[in-house]
Amino acid sequence: MENRERVTETLYREMGIDPKVSAFGAQIEETLKERFAAIDETVEYNQLKVIKAMQESRVEAACFAATSGYGYNDLGREKLEEVYAAAFHTEAALVRPQITCGTHALAVALSGNLRPGDELLSPVGKPYDTLEEVIGIRPSKGSLAEYGVTYRQVDLLPDGGFDYPAIEKALNERTKLVTIQRSKGYQTRPTLSVKRIGELMAFIKERKPDVICMVDNCYGEFVERLEPTDVGADLCVGSLIKNPGGGLAPVGGYIVGKEKYVEQAAYRLISPGLGKEVGASLGVMTSFYQGFFLAPAVTGGALKGAVFAANVYEKLGFSVLPDGRESRHDIIQAVTFGKPEGVIAFCQGIQAAAPVDSYVTPEPWAMPGYDSDVIMAAGAFVQGSSIELSADGPIKPPYAVYFQGGLTWQHAKFGILMSLQKLLEAGLVTL
Ligand SMILES: *Cc1c(COP(=O)(O)O)cnc(C)c1O
Repeated sequence: MENRERVTETLYREMGIDPKVSAFGAQIEETLKERFAAIDETVEYNQLKVIKAMQESRVEAACFAATSGYGYNDLGREKLEEVYAAAFHTEAALVRPQITCGTHALAVALSGNLRPGDELLSPVGKPYDTLEEVIGIRPSKGSLAEYGVTYRQVDLLPDGGFDYPAIEKALNERTKLVTIQRSKGYQTRPTLSVKRIGELMAFIKERKPDVICMVDNCYGEFVERLEPTDVGADLCVGSLIKNPGGGLAPVGGYIVGKEKYVEQAAYRLISPGLGKEVGASLGVMTSFYQGFFLAPAVTGGALKGAVFAANVYEKLGFSVLPDGRESRHDIIQAVTFGKPEGVIAFCQGIQAAAPVDSYVTPEPWAMPGYDSDVIMAAGAFVQGSSIELSADGPIKPPYAVYFQGGLTWQHAKFGILMSLQKLLEAGLVTL
């Protein structure tokens, strides 16, 4: 072993990683060279795409100044929205710290564009949990249902395919907006590739050209070279404490797409009449710009971590989704342990590897909105940020853990090795 490798090994020892664990990790990493090279190529493309957008918009130091009050003529805010529109190849963008999270961004895009009597269609099954209350699938105060917007859903076929005949039947004269969730979120269905989303939208537009196609892009940004807006999405929505914030954005969400639909969203977010013209940026602009600049590389690191984890745990005989070889369309990795102790050890390992709060031991807990105890691991600079290395698992069959993020590949790797270390210590795996 070369000296520089030996000093890294020594540090792993000092930080609690058994030699068997790091050797197993090294063996897996050795098999992933081609996968990682392909991820690096995507990062290179997306990095150039973002720099090009920033250059064309003539981003300058004045963009980083804080504004207050109404925020009229906020240069930084206006140019940032130009940059997002350029990178997503859309007419317009709304990128704001006043958008508090991904659910808020989606709620604003939906309620800004739907009117009483309209119908919303999800042709890809049940949307993300928090959207159930936005739509009113679960009765909720202020839901779209309370405003007279109806909802229809077509589930995916058992093999994960689109149920085209049922989608065709579900489209009707009241269908105003179709919402398509790219990521599987915390379900077991496959994540949709941008290509498949494009095919689905083409099918829908052929039958109803005036329908608005919106994509929930959460966890998907920069995973591929194309975004849903490159294949026909009229609106695309996400959170800045996931991929596009690059780990630096302390809050925020984005909505990109056709000018008229983004404008409707702005009137809902701010106020009729005011729209995009107001909204002070309060000093977050540097982190929004710099985070977006870093986002392709950060997403690439998180993706390498997900692929590494899939291969580590698959090799040990656990069921993993996506599997070790599948192509990736988001940064989420699920590992099924089959018993609570596995989920707990995994999450405790992720926590122990964090740069923040590493001394805390997470335990399963009853959480609002969940029907079982949940264990969550996060040692993040930004509270709740899931582009940072994080994991959570409901304590119920099949005892699966969902993990995502990692601001650097090296941290993601350390976290996964530490999770394996905890499983080894608990006697749940043998190496
Ligand atoms: C994260 C996420 C959301 C929004 O979640 P927030 O926690 O409100 O940011 C919506 N849809 C999907 C698929 C997500 O992954």
